[in-house]
Amino acid sequence: MPVSGLPPYDPNNVFARILRGELPCRKVLETDHALAFHDIHPQAPVHILIIPKGPYVSAADFHASASAEEIAGFWRAVAEVGRAYEAAGYRLLSNMGRDAGQEVPHFHVHLFAGRPLGPMLARGAG
Ligand code: 5GP
Repeated sequence: MPVSGLPPYDPNNVFARILRGELPCRKVLETDHALAFHDIHPQAPVHILIIPKGPYVSAADFHASASAEEIAGFWRAVAEVGRAYEAAGYRLLSNMGRDAGQEVPHFHVHLFAGRPLGPMLARGAG
């Protein structure tokens, strides 16, 4: 059930199609609860997307509706992907809804690494 201003889950969104194997991806990790793969338009030397396997439209939907096991399994997978970059550091980011510019309506976390990542947001936002 959607808990945000986003529409209900669309089973034909691009990440659902990747999960079903209908579209290819450069896989990094797959667990019972999560799939991690390289972003098609990387914005850093390392830009990985981590998604839960269940049909959750957004961060709000996932954390309200997923089971405790799915939530723990998902975040453990995020940490496992991050392990390779722990020494130098990495950034996690999740866009939720309109103002954040969420493009794909299946909850996902971006992991950026591989260079100093600069300020968290564009300056001048106020
Ligand atoms: P959002 O703006 O929703 O947080 O981020 C969506 C991300 O998904 C973008 O960084 C975009 O490049 C990535 N993306 C969109 N379509 C595909 C695809 O078909 N394959 C992969 N690997 N990434 C995609």
